[in-house]
Amino acid sequence: MAVGYHCVSNTRQPHLAHVLDCKTPTEFESDLRWMAATGPVLNYEEVAAARRSGKRFPRGSFHVSFDDGFSESATVIAPILLRHKIPATFFLTTDFLDNRRLFHRNLISLCIERLRTASSTEEADLRRRIGISAHRRFPSAEGLVRWLRHLFHDRVDSIEAAASVLGIDRAAFLEDRSPYLTRGQVLRLAADGFTLGAHSLSHPRMSLMGRPAAIEHEIVESCRVVADLVGVSQVPFSVPFGASRLNRRHLKEVQRRNPVVGCMFDADGIGDDGLLISRIMADNQRGTGDDGSNLPGLIRRAWLRGGIKRAKVGIRRIATGDRP
Ligand SMILES: [Zn+2]
Repeated sequence: MAVGYHCVSNTRQPHLAHVLDCKTPTEFESDLRWMAATGPVLNYEEVAAARRSGKRFPRGSFHVSFDDGFSESATVIAPILLRHKIPATFFLTTDFLDNRRLFHRNLISLCIERLRTASSTEEADLRRRIGISAHRRFPSAEGLVRWLRHLFHDRVDSIEAAASVLGIDRAAFLEDRSPYLTRGQVLRLAADGFTLGAHSLSHPRMSLMGRPAAIEHEIVESCRVVADLVGVSQVPFSVPFGASRLNRRHLKEVQRRNPVVGCMFDADGIGDDGLLISRIMADNQRGTGDDGSNLPGLIRRAWLRGGIKRAKVGIRRIATGDRP
């Protein structure tokens, strides 16, 4: 079973707080202890070797990975993994390396944080001005927050216009906070034995991209950047925002045509369909406590969701006259 995270931190991060959950080091260590006690935790090479010999993800085992390339990968997560002797893969969004660019979802979180900390008079004024820039009316703060949360790369102009009304200085944030890994930190992770993978160039929602060639470019070029940086010929890839609406045949073709693209990882789910290895996304802190990891609960819920999804497909096939 593949298990995925984004960040682990003891402190609340304004660029994450409104778009991602984030476990504390203590909660994360509970997960690691539970995985180590439950089944072997494999490194990427072991997963890839099983795939090469025609097998699916080895039953009863785990693989741990992290998306987006946050700086905590080097400062918080890697030291914990090394202490527990747990291997892992870090998937990098390569345009963010060295803090050259702010991820649009992190900018959305900073916008929401600014709105939440404004006085009610100030918030009403900011909401009115964002409405003017977006040619919309936001009768409530919640309506504006909901709108912001549903924006993706194709609406980056709207996100940046809102950020500008809110007085958020992206360059200063990148400089002061350094939210993403540097190339030096990536090389250190590789030297410590971790696997580096790619997570696209710019973290677009690929299902909104339309052109298959543009999707291929994001996958292949980001894998090339990581492969060149760490000096390997092939790296794994994790699909930003998950692959549920992507054309599987196209992804398979991309992988076949480009040997630099290794195993592909999906988000949120259980299983391995021979192309995509699904992951339990384990950032959610719900159910963690003194008695330890919430991973068993997250895994149970994922099995349940998977069962419901399979049942829906079966019902749809019966309704359309196909054999289930
Ligand atoms: Zn991501």
